[in-house]
Amino acid sequence: MMEARSLSRRFGGLLAVADVSLSLRPGELHAVIGPNGAGKSTLVNLLAGELAPTEGQIFLDGTDITGLSVAERARAGIGRTFQRTNLMLDMTVLENARLATVIPFRRLLRRADRETVPLAAARRALQRVGLPESALARTLSHGQLRLLEIAVALAGQPSVLLLDEPLAGSGAEDAAPIAALMKDLSREHAVLLIEHDMDVVFAVADTITVMVDGRVLERGTPTEIASSAAVRDAYLGHGGG
Ligand code: ADP
Ligand code: MG
Repeated sequence: MMEARSLSRRFGGLLAVADVSLSLRPGELHAVIGPNGAGKSTLVNLLAGELAPTEGQIFLDGTDITGLSVAERARAGIGRTFQRTNLMLDMTVLENARLATVIPFRRLLRRADRETVPLAAARRALQRVGLPESALARTLSHGQLRLLEIAVALAGQPSVLLLDEPLAGSGAEDAAPIAALMKDLSREHAVLLIEHDMDVVFAVADTITVMVDGRVLERGTPTEIASSAAVRDAYLGHGGG
């Protein structure tokens, strides 16, 4: 289980994440929703280790991992996808899946500098999402690129999956299969899902945390969140984001 305790992150005068606590459990799909700028991606970056919190701690199976780097957290079992796709378009699907997802700015790195994951793990991940190994990433549809992004994270054999808008930019026809895959993955992994498509969120989430201005406004089951007056007033009633 992954646990964030009172996480805050300041950017100059802006408190992007303010005193956020959250638990991710195996078998649970925990969605975080909120308007643009609510602090959702910053929260993912804090959990993945790309940003250090200004305050608060992060625990994985009871161990404090707040001081671990992105690579160390990935080795400890934390996988993530990026809101903006982070794939190597001139490489094959299999080559992408073999590249460790943990290295920031993968595009800028020379091939020799990259870590790779075992071939068998990469192949299993691609089978899981249903992508052909030998296709060039450039030839994939948008929805397939989002699946490849998930496969790259899965190839690292994570216990926790952090998915930041895995449907972003894909068409309506891609949403259902990707949503079904996420739900399926949450049976074995602890999944944190950032998603703005409320139909998808309410269909797949076990728990929803609503963030507004960096803070947790409400947390509950989809039924509880749908009937929350505070959420309706602050967020859903204004068209979401
Ligand atoms: P969300 O993902 O919910 O849309 P973000 O976490 O991306 O929100 O951003 C939360 C707030 O923090 C926004 O006001 C954003 O402009 C600001 N922010 C995010 N990253 C940085 C950064 N690296 N430097 C300064 N401000 C940032
Ligand atoms: Mg975001």
